[in-house]
Amino acid sequence: MYKLNPCNIKMHEHQPLIIDIKGNSLDDGPGVRSVIFVKGCPLRCVWCQNPESKHVKQEIFYDQSQCIGCGDCITHCSEKALTLVNGKILFDHAKCTACMACVSSCEPKAISAVGANLSIDDIMAKILPYQPFFDNTGGGVTITGGEATLFMPFISSLLKTLKKHNIHTLLETCGMFNFKRFETLILPYLDTVYVDMKIVDKEDHINYCGQSNERILENIQKLHQRSKKGSFTLLTRTPLIPNITDTDKNIMQICEFYQQVGIKKAAILKNNPLWMDKAKHLGVKLDLPQQARQFYREEKFTHIQKLFNDKGIHIVSM
Ligand code: SF4
Ligand code: SF4
Repeated sequence: MYKLNPCNIKMHEHQPLIIDIKGNSLDDGPGVRSVIFVKGCPLRCVWCQNPESKHVKQEIFYDQSQCIGCGDCITHCSEKALTLVNGKILFDHAKCTACMACVSSCEPKAISAVGANLSIDDIMAKILPYQPFFDNTGGGVTITGGEATLFMPFISSLLKTLKKHNIHTLLETCGMFNFKRFETLILPYLDTVYVDMKIVDKEDHINYCGQSNERILENIQKLHQRSKKGSFTLLTRTPLIPNITDTDKNIMQICEFYQQVGIKKAAILKNNPLWMDKAKHLGVKLDLPQQARQFYREEKFTHIQKLFNDKGIHIVSM
């Protein structure tokens, strides 16, 4: 039923920029985990919690509260993107070409570069000190983003290295990837896959996420089939974005899709609007309804949970 149409995914053979490697996370899978944030994503979800991860290239992050008004950055900018007004820099993101010339001039680190070139050795050097915590808690490494599958050869090498060290691996994915390559390069080295199930209606998906969802739905179906063999566990997750993904219509369509595919358990994630502050520092324009900018209401969460349960889909707590 869910047939694949060509879609706009640009695969990258080079290594990705890494936004951050967070140690001691308790929110990104079982046990204590290190979380690797990869930069670049094929989707453009209007509620994206990690707006700094959308673009593949380096970006400037400007935190005005850290600016001491020294003006040192201005002399490094040939694009006239920086102006000193009332003791603070006004940053014109439209003029900025992300040349990064100003970054090193800013001693208080009000200006910083998002994304760093890290080799697999560099990444492992940050991961391995946490291995005793993984071993004691059933934790491991979570790769998220952005969308790590944009960089399959690099992620494949990274996963192989993690498995050589006997580290549990989890991938968080939007589901937009070439399944054949994924099955060969990535899946054999994964213990767990968390895949997003956002919106079923194709037009709504295009409107809110920037691309059609046909490939995603087909990939979820295939992932579920493969997961039955037991080499990895799969969890589909729906971010609850008010008036966008959490409408009764979308939830019922997700239930119907799960029933057709045979998925019997899933997760739902409460909207967390804290990302909007990050978006401001990146110069990203907010393009989402007022309601989607608020913390999620508990009673609405319970309502959605009931809709799933009534259709025989168990909602796992996260
Ligand atoms: S990164 Fe942007 S603001 Fe900084 S020097 Fe280059 S163009 Fe100017
Ligand atoms: S160098 Fe940094 S602290 Fe100084 S004016 Fe520029 S942004 Fe502000």
